Amino acid sequence: MADEFPFEISPMFEGERIRKDGMYVELAGPKSKGFELVRAADINDIEDDKFTLIGPDLSDMEEGSRHPIAMIYKIAGELVETDLESIVERRNHEFQNYIQGLMHLNQRDDVWLRLGTDAVNKGLTSFEYIAKAIMMLFKNELPFIEKVEAIYITDIQEVEKELDSAKEVYKARDERTRNLHDEDVDTFYGCTLCASFAPTNVCVVTPDRISLCGAINWFDGRAAAKVDPEGPQFAIPKGELIDSESGEYSGVNEAAKRLSSGEYDRIKLHSFFEYPHTSCGCFEVVGFYIPEVDGIGWIDRDFAGTAPNGLQFSTMAGQTGGGKQVAGFLGVGINYFRSPKFIQSDGGWNRVVWMPKILKEKILNDIPEDIRDKIATEEETSDIESLKNFLSEKEHPIVVRWNEEEEENDVQETPSPQQQGYEAPQMMQMPSNFMPSIPMGSSGGSAGMKIILKNAKVSIEKIIIKKDE
Ligand code: SF4
Repeated sequence: MADEFPFEISPMFEGERIRKDGMYVELAGPKSKGFELVRAADINDIEDDKFTLIGPDLSDMEEGSRHPIAMIYKIAGELVETDLESIVERRNHEFQNYIQGLMHLNQRDDVWLRLGTDAVNKGLTSFEYIAKAIMMLFKNELPFIEKVEAIYITDIQEVEKELDSAKEVYKARDERTRNLHDEDVDTFYGCTLCASFAPTNVCVVTPDRISLCGAINWFDGRAAAKVDPEGPQFAIPKGELIDSESGEYSGVNEAAKRLSSGEYDRIKLHSFFEYPHTSCGCFEVVGFYIPEVDGIGWIDRDFAGTAPNGLQFSTMAGQTGGGKQVAGFLGVGINYFRSPKFIQSDGGWNRVVWMPKILKEKILNDIPEDIRDKIATEEETSDIESLKNFLSEKEHPIVVRWNEEEEENDVQETPSPQQQGYEAPQMMQMPSNFMPSIPMGSSGGSAGMKIILKNAKVSIEKIIIKKDE
């Protein structure tokens, strides 16, 4: 069947990157508009395998140009229900990446596609090939889909018109979990769709924690596990509650061990610093610890500027992704900001000090009222110094922590490292104030002194730990 297409289709092309110099055309992405949407429909209203294009086709597009794109699929079948829409939609990302020469990033209205020049030279000159390949994969891989139809739009006016309705659909899906919480259910859901590029990633979707890609909520996970229990979305029995504050459950820990092949055996669902959820690479937002203010900043994909720490989203995303638990960084879906359990074991909103203006506006009503105007954006702060001043002026709750820490440091008689039971810091046990300190006299045990580095930038290439002879 794949022979009908002027390209190869295989999971081995997942992860293929199309750079600017090898790109024929860019579709949607941060400098244009677009979205992907799957809708469940009545079986009688669908003409199976039909493709409609509204706007210019690939053959009408100039090399090196950029265009908007909307990809709408209608699906039908006896088992198809609205809850399955997100699951199928997420597979558009996966299946488009199976196509040699096509790169698909992100999800929903954040999609970003690039088509390689080589692919066009080999004959990929129409969107119809792509849509037909995806429809074929949908039906082959998701047997509950009996009929499917695709509508691609590349005309900007039409894309904008449809984008508003797509956003309404996304919003309605996200709203569904508002009144359901982790303690109300016995089962969470796991997803392994990103395992191909982040093999140790353990995605756990709960009522209070949407997936990091933002595309799959608890209802979606449940619907997918019901129709295809052996598929990439599956049930994770919660097991025993170990700690309600951080959201640690024995069932999640068991799943973490199994899915990460033993790399991780603990996940605290609502923790930022200690045993946090792993981050694959599809996250909508990256959280980053700012040690100078002991607070947490958040940066999203759409923000092209730099955070107060001088880094951009892409740099921090590179640091965060790969399916690891990374101390000081955490990938989340935007809807997690709306969770009443949002990083609750690390202070929740009282720990949040910075986020881009557009992201803040998007979730403004979900930020507790008393902290809303105390969270800085790029408009008020450009670096750590201006961030500190802003937080002090606004009397952000984090300032109380600074004062407490200072008092502690002033009055504390510093014991020797051995008296403190000093251990080399471990990745997942970052102290909450993360003030680097250097214990002195570790071999003699008599120095009783430590140096605290404040506002220091420390770069370490290699740490060698040797046993004292
Ligand atoms: S981020 Fe998680 S939930 Fe989303 S597709 Fe990847 S593995 Fe699945």
